[in-house]
Amino acid sequence: MVDESKIRQAIELLLDGMGEDVTREGLVDTPERIARMYTQILSGKDEDAGEILSKRFKVDNSECVLVKDIVFYSMCEHHLMPFYGKAHIAYIPDGEVVGLSKIARTVECFAKRLQLQEQLSAQVADAIMEYLMPKGVMVVMEAEHMCMTMRGVKKPGSKTVTVATRGIFETDSNARDLFFRMLNAQ
Ligand code: ZN
Repeated sequence: MVDESKIRQAIELLLDGMGEDVTREGLVDTPERIARMYTQILSGKDEDAGEILSKRFKVDNSECVLVKDIVFYSMCEHHLMPFYGKAHIAYIPDGEVVGLSKIARTVECFAKRLQLQEQLSAQVADAIMEYLMPKGVMVVMEAEHMCMTMRGVKKPGSKTVTVATRGIFETDSNARDLFFRMLNAQ
């Protein structure tokens, strides 16, 4: 749980450390505002991926399901700056599927935390493997990191791409090819 009163105190100290007058009009409510904001953008820690993925439906086939262009916003744990982009997730069911919106909610559950993109991709893949038990899952995430582009380390708009493969996507290159064919299909 986010402790809003600690965040308020910390932001006051941070602003002071930046050489700001924390009592000036534009800043007077900033600690309170940021405390509330962090409660929202870090709410994923209070969510349970197992619960999100608990409502499953039986299916006979085991055709690949791809949910693409899931927009997500997360926070880099090294710099406390946002990174955001899109996730594309495919899985090959083994008798059960979940509603498509649950896949997007699983991404949100892990994105709304202090994160690293590699870890985020892996956690989403692992949760889907654990709770949905498909034959395999593949997660591709592409994101812009403000900590890189804003500081000029990388050009604005440049993307970091991470991939996490589990099960059949790990062992079978045809499955990975299928992922990219489906991703690029219009
Ligand atoms: Zn960073």
